[in-house]
Amino acid sequence: MATHHTKMLIIGSGPAGYSAAIYGARAMLEPIVVQGLQPGGQLTITTDVENYPGFKDVIQGPWLMEQMQAQAEHVGTRMMWDTIVEVDLANGSPFRAVGDSGDEYIGETLVIATGAQAKWLGVDGEQELGGKGVSACATCDGFFYRGKKVVVIGGGNTAVEEALYLTNHSDDVTLIHRRDELRSEKILQERLFASDKITPLWNKTVSAFVAGENGALGHLDLVDTVSGEQSTIEADGAFVAIGHAPATELFKGKLPMDDGGYLQVEAGTPKTEIPGVFACGDVMDHTYRQAVTAAGTGCMAALDAERFLATQQHAQKEAAE
Ligand code: NDP
Repeated sequence: MATHHTKMLIIGSGPAGYSAAIYGARAMLEPIVVQGLQPGGQLTITTDVENYPGFKDVIQGPWLMEQMQAQAEHVGTRMMWDTIVEVDLANGSPFRAVGDSGDEYIGETLVIATGAQAKWLGVDGEQELGGKGVSACATCDGFFYRGKKVVVIGGGNTAVEEALYLTNHSDDVTLIHRRDELRSEKILQERLFASDKITPLWNKTVSAFVAGENGALGHLDLVDTVSGEQSTIEADGAFVAIGHAPATELFKGKLPMDDGGYLQVEAGTPKTEIPGVFACGDVMDHTYRQAVTAAGTGCMAALDAERFLATQQHAQKEAAE
């Protein structure tokens, strides 16, 4: 059991955490990144990435995250292969966290970049066909279904936005919802119903994703929630949009969250209500959820952490004089 001290403790290793680390290291904060259970985050479970700026050709999500990690290490970040299981924020800076390994981490500032996970239906074929037709992000993968038949599952804002987004690529989009009424905002519903490219399919749940002859998604098995009748729908791409779950369990009762469990920050900043604690990336953003926006807020968190430390140092100096 060891105790690790740092000026900047970062929990989470997606684009937000690594970007915070790159900026923090270059500001001589000697950051520590505690990588968590899925080093690299959500991008490590995607394949092609075409929308991260800087790469003309398609890159792979896991490769991009390896590069970010290597860059963060190169400029002086310490990576810890550990998972934080406990945090103590009650006494202000320095903050204490404990890892699964039993190690203790003391950070003068804390950057929370624990991300979010797409919720999945948990039905047959969903996992096996991940990246082969089944996805949880139309903005990331929709482009690969140009001119093809796609379905979106869900009835909230995400599902409707994903369906609308997919009409940029496909003229045949079906929105499958388990009820006959959408949960999403009315304005989005109006846009959806006005589109001649989207067909809603009401009162259906998906019971399985089934591969076609080529091994990729071929069709979905459906069950009618009213009559119980079974049916199928052919599709080349299926986008599961039934919500995201932010990884905020650790911070329950310690930091304010919205109804969805996302950490609340001061508008336009990564500042939480505790001075010196910052949140960036998907753990505080349920709207944009992109690698590039996560990286952007990670950078903001590091810059604000640096300012926080400078202000603290200045105050200590004045108090001593
Ligand atoms: P929501 O929780 O709002 O909606 C989830 C949808 O998935 C619901 O329609 C729900 O059905 C359905 N669903 C849930 N579980 C299952 C299941 N097991 N099988 C079938 N269907 C299921 O999640 P969203 O991701 O849409 O939105 C999350 C939050 O983010 C919301 O607050 C939303 O407003 C916000 N958001 C805002 C945006 C914006 O402002 N532009 C864009 C995207 C999200 P049912 O309705 O029957 O419960």
